[in-house]
Amino acid sequence: MRSEVHDESGDANPVINDTTETATRPLLIPDGAPPAFHLLAKPTGAICNLDCAYCFFLEKESLYPGSGFRMQEPVLEAYIRQLIESHQLNQVNIAWQGGEPTIMGLDFYRRAMALVEKYRRPGMTFLHTMQTNGTLLDDDWCAFLKEHNFLIGISIDGPRALHDIYRVDKGGGPTFDKVMRGLRLLQKHGVEYNILTTVNRQNGDHPLEVYRFLRDEAKTDWMQFIPVVERINDDGRTLLQQGSTVTDRSVRPEQFGRFLSTIFDEWVRNDVGRIYVQTIEAAARNWYGMPSSGMCVFNETCGTGLAIEHNGDIYSCDHFVEPNFLLGNIQQTHMIELVSSPQQLAFGTAKRDTLPRYCRECDVRFACHGECPKNRFIDTPDGEPGLNYLCAGFKHFFHHIDYPMQIMVGLMRRGRQAAEVMQILAGEEAKWAALFAKTERNQPCPCGSGLKFKLCHGQQAAGAALPPPRRPAPMH
Ligand code: SF4
Ligand code: SF4
Repeated sequence: MRSEVHDESGDANPVINDTTETATRPLLIPDGAPPAFHLLAKPTGAICNLDCAYCFFLEKESLYPGSGFRMQEPVLEAYIRQLIESHQLNQVNIAWQGGEPTIMGLDFYRRAMALVEKYRRPGMTFLHTMQTNGTLLDDDWCAFLKEHNFLIGISIDGPRALHDIYRVDKGGGPTFDKVMRGLRLLQKHGVEYNILTTVNRQNGDHPLEVYRFLRDEAKTDWMQFIPVVERINDDGRTLLQQGSTVTDRSVRPEQFGRFLSTIFDEWVRNDVGRIYVQTIEAAARNWYGMPSSGMCVFNETCGTGLAIEHNGDIYSCDHFVEPNFLLGNIQQTHMIELVSSPQQLAFGTAKRDTLPRYCRECDVRFACHGECPKNRFIDTPDGEPGLNYLCAGFKHFFHHIDYPMQIMVGLMRRGRQAAEVMQILAGEEAKWAALFAKTERNQPCPCGSGLKFKLCHGQQAAGAALPPPRRPAPMH
């Protein structure tokens, strides 16, 4: 189906012109302005054609009572123009998200492309991205996405049985087939895509099933895993980042740690260098000591990933589309002034400055940085507020991957391929297996745990799911 867009003014083909410049263009880039930033545009606001149970956008509809939830031409033009003007670097990311952005129809995005051409400076390059549920894609859409080199993020929660638990349509029906149809169309047209999987209490117990499905069936080489943490507000809704209890859809902290660790174990033995898992990549960057992990949640500070609503309102972050984090509207104030406002700079540094002591003294702080402030609503063991709900999971995960990470970073520092880690680990594990084979049940376990073999790695022979040793085999 190809949908034609008519904006609410009734003008299907508005003339692109300069009359929409309602915000004063700044003569100078303000002090402290980031040279580049990431702005997620929500042209349909919270409106979506599906009804995923855990979607944190759907309730946002109540923030704009009576709105038509369609980005109008003046806002679209101001958005594209100001985004380009605000970038001091020549690479600009134009990112569309929802709700469901494809609801706007193709003509809206054709206009967006024309506006990019109108305002681009010589030498500028653009990365067009869109996060979609994939269900409205058709051949016309995919041809357009290919023509403009879009990078598409498609949301899939795993194989059918896991995906259909929460990702349902307005009638509560399953969506797996529709999403996979969209994915196959993207593949047919050669559109670049990656897969976003939300990790919830149901699929959280099936890491290998999810990972292998994404790799082998959905055939992606780039995946991201986003934990579902829904805070319950005093009024029982999940509209705001308030409240210290979570819904029963939310992933448990330890469950998320096990989920990531299990996927890491599969990846580090088979897929290094050919499958990209965003959380693992971010960890590798932090182990390596790079200035940014590439994920705001694992950086020391944040504040350069904002959101723009359908009416031009800009919020501090996609996860904080709520009144206290509204910075202003681009039709009154130029975007760069909002992005570099004291309120936004304070938002970004608060990620670091509000860490409880427990985090400041944590041995994996360099990798975790207390993750996202939206999830910091529990107390530390000594009673200080502001600890991340997922802390136990992150501690587990970052300790679990330390040894292979050190091997990979060591390899890269010596100019070698990180993928060599697979061979190194396989060699070490063969050595351990030989040692275990020679060990009697009541002897001390060779791993050095101090336990009898039968209570430690000897259980593996009986079928228990113990992890393989994380340290090199002793050189006997
Ligand atoms: S609040 Fe969380 S999601 Fe938003 S920019 Fe900061 S770390 Fe990222
Ligand atoms: S693992 Fe826990 S204690 Fe350590 S930085 Fe992360 S949230 Fe804080």
